[in-house]
Amino acid sequence: MSAARSRLSTSEMQSSVQIPAAIAGRRVWLRLGTMIDGSGAAPQRDAHVVYSKAGILYAGADTPPAEMVKSGRTATTPDAELPDYTLLPGLIDAHTHIFLEGGELDLDKRAAFLKQSPEELLELARGRLEKIVRLGVTAMRDCGDRDGVGLALSRLCASPDRPLMPYIDSPGAAIHRRGRYGSFMADPLESFPTAAACVAARVRAGADRIKLIPTGIINFKQGAVTTAPQMTTEEIGAIVAAAKSHNRQTIAHGSGDDGLERAIEGGVDSIEHGFFLRDDQLAKMRDRHIAWAPTFSPVEKQVDHRDRLGWDAHVVANLKKILDRHAASLVKAHAMGVEIVAGSDAGSCGVAHGLGFLEELELMERAGLSPAAIVYSATGASARRLAFKEKFGEIKPGYLSRFILTRHSPLETVANLRKQKIIVFDDQVFATGESPDVSGL
Ligand SMILES: [Zn+2]
Repeated sequence: MSAARSRLSTSEMQSSVQIPAAIAGRRVWLRLGTMIDGSGAAPQRDAHVVYSKAGILYAGADTPPAEMVKSGRTATTPDAELPDYTLLPGLIDAHTHIFLEGGELDLDKRAAFLKQSPEELLELARGRLEKIVRLGVTAMRDCGDRDGVGLALSRLCASPDRPLMPYIDSPGAAIHRRGRYGSFMADPLESFPTAAACVAARVRAGADRIKLIPTGIINFKQGAVTTAPQMTTEEIGAIVAAAKSHNRQTIAHGSGDDGLERAIEGGVDSIEHGFFLRDDQLAKMRDRHIAWAPTFSPVEKQVDHRDRLGWDAHVVANLKKILDRHAASLVKAHAMGVEIVAGSDAGSCGVAHGLGFLEELELMERAGLSPAAIVYSATGASARRLAFKEKFGEIKPGYLSRFILTRHSPLETVANLRKQKIIVFDDQVFATGESPDVSGL
């Protein structure tokens, strides 16, 4: 990243404080009204953070030691005094499909979009990256595509040519059953003689994780998952065992309690969506450290855009009932101690990248989770469970300098994360206003 990329426009500067960029070995010392460190601990009042381009050097309540803040100059006061600001880690969206344009609602256009070449899809995805960072989402776990877009961006992220982009890792093509749901983002298990061979091929292609689709999806007209699971418990277990042998985590798409039972018994690392999870299944997930990304957004968007999508009152009633039950499950899961990771399913119909994640957090709040619990699920909880290749999600020494500064405390409501904020990303500083550019997301 070039140090010359200073990106505050004049109007943005007028509306925000000055945070120096951590360029040329500079250490930046901030004094903050409140720090949410991403560990799940209570927020700290009157905190100090010292960081460089390479990472956080100090975070705590005491004035940092003098040798910590010197970098070829003598510093005795912070670079910025921010008594009315809250600092929190950059947000982690644990479930995205970066190859898709989520904001597009026109179903014909969505279908036509998918007919583009892998190169075209990659170019469009690249165009989203900086916009996503500017919204405060500084990392994402991609959950699959069959055109290599996620894998290409994972490689780009790890390369010396990395542009300004969120951290991204990807499973590449998900694994599904031939002829069943998921063909737009998956290749079938049957293409290989064994689950182990299938997983090995994904790993050879560069997969950071293994994504499987062991169940169907919700039939909105019926208000239930009406198709049988795609995989047996044994098949899921074989995929999980093979993934473990390659040191890869598994991501399981799942809705409907019979298919979810198989995913849980198969020992996956995370359950995605999880509509119709039973309470006894939540308890098993807690006991086995299976994370849950509830992804309210794709279903909520069907309600929000009911007329455009052609849903009648009966379907809308089904959708609302499903969302209410899901909300109750989330509150129970949190109380029980299930590891919850916030994920938007960005790329799904109506769920824009970045912005859709901020909306997802609001839906979790509407479900009944506290803002503090939601921020944790979007930062440290994800970082601790999902084994990312870079250290972020917490504000402590050794972690990357990627965080959000805001005068609108997310602890009052996570909806405040949509308001004006400053994003620090390594050696760059951005001010994001109330109307950021969300085109093409
Ligand atoms: Zn998904």
